[in-house]
Amino acid sequence: MSYIYIVLKTLQIKLLPDEEQKQALVDTFVAFNEACDFASKIAFEKKLYNKVFLQRIVYRDIREKFNLAAQLAVRVIAKVVETYKADRTTFHVFRDFGSIVYDPRILSFKGIDQISVSTVHGRIRIPMTIGKYRKIPFERIRGQCDLVRKNKLFYLMVAVETPEEAIIKPENIMGVDMGIVNIAVDSTGKYYSGDQINEVRDHNADLRSRLQAVGYNHASRKSAKRHLKKLSGKERRFARDTNHVISKEIVHKAKGTSSAIAIENLDGIRMRTTVRKGKRYIHNSWSFHQIRSFIEYKAREAGIPVIAIDPHNTSRECPICHTISKKNRPERSQFRCISCGLEGEADYIASLNIRNRAAVSQPIVAGAIFDHIDPPAASQRASAVGS
Ligand SMILES: [Zn+2]
Repeated sequence: MSYIYIVLKTLQIKLLPDEEQKQALVDTFVAFNEACDFASKIAFEKKLYNKVFLQRIVYRDIREKFNLAAQLAVRVIAKVVETYKADRTTFHVFRDFGSIVYDPRILSFKGIDQISVSTVHGRIRIPMTIGKYRKIPFERIRGQCDLVRKNKLFYLMVAVETPEEAIIKPENIMGVDMGIVNIAVDSTGKYYSGDQINEVRDHNADLRSRLQAVGYNHASRKSAKRHLKKLSGKERRFARDTNHVISKEIVHKAKGTSSAIAIENLDGIRMRTTVRKGKRYIHNSWSFHQIRSFIEYKAREAGIPVIAIDPHNTSRECPICHTISKKNRPERSQFRCISCGLEGEADYIASLNIRNRAAVSQPIVAGAIFDHIDPPAASQRASAVGS
């Protein structure tokens, strides 16, 4: 039996704007991200993290103050709400050229060499080059795409569904839990620790909150913003390196044991990010999303299938007698089954449940590879097409 599974590949399409179009894009980026700051301030001050409620309050102001089209204003609110899903302990500041999410209502392809895109100066057509890609499989484009600016050039990041064949026929399944205490735990009982990364982040979280205290409604806002940017860059590079090392180790181990890798769908990971106060920043969905996508693409390169499972109650279910109860978790890091008495470290127990669920019958899937550093958009999920 061989597997065909769907991966989301991200095409990077370069835009070729003339000077006037370039200015329109720059103005749109700045307006979009300033609008994000505006919405972020209100969300944070009013503790309003729900898209519908926030939209009710800020939508009209965003449209008027920042001259954004209706759908771009909606995107601003969505982006702000999304980043607060990961972390509500600090006020979020957006960099001037943070990516803009476009959906088909505000961006469309005109043939193979042009896009039509909504800007603060109205809708414009911009030439593009598909470069090394022979063609763009328009029929397989997934919903939204990101407009990004790198080194003063503009790119469209387009997620495309691509069928691939897994090379190995797995004989085992290795469950991997993205843990609370550890970055990951696998179902053989191996812990992948994040001690080092956590220390650096604790230190930086302190610094950040101090910078943010001076940062808002103050003359030095620009400079505080610059410091914040620098800080998060350093921190993110560090997290990224750690995530690379750990994901590599996990995939290497799976290959050595002819195992498919089972992981939770992203939604579940996000649900579990409400960890003890003060540590919340550390386990944000951005980092989980990154390590997950690293595991997926390294697994794909190694020909290892990745199975995404329904994450509900993976931390509350007993892997032996299958009793599901909140009471199975007397402490955060501890599992003790109220029916059969099974005891263990909570993250490890979760990894066993993940493995068991994958074994029952699951499609083989893998997710998107996103390289840029903005917080992730909604969960990327692909479905299986064959067996
Ligand atoms: Zn039990």
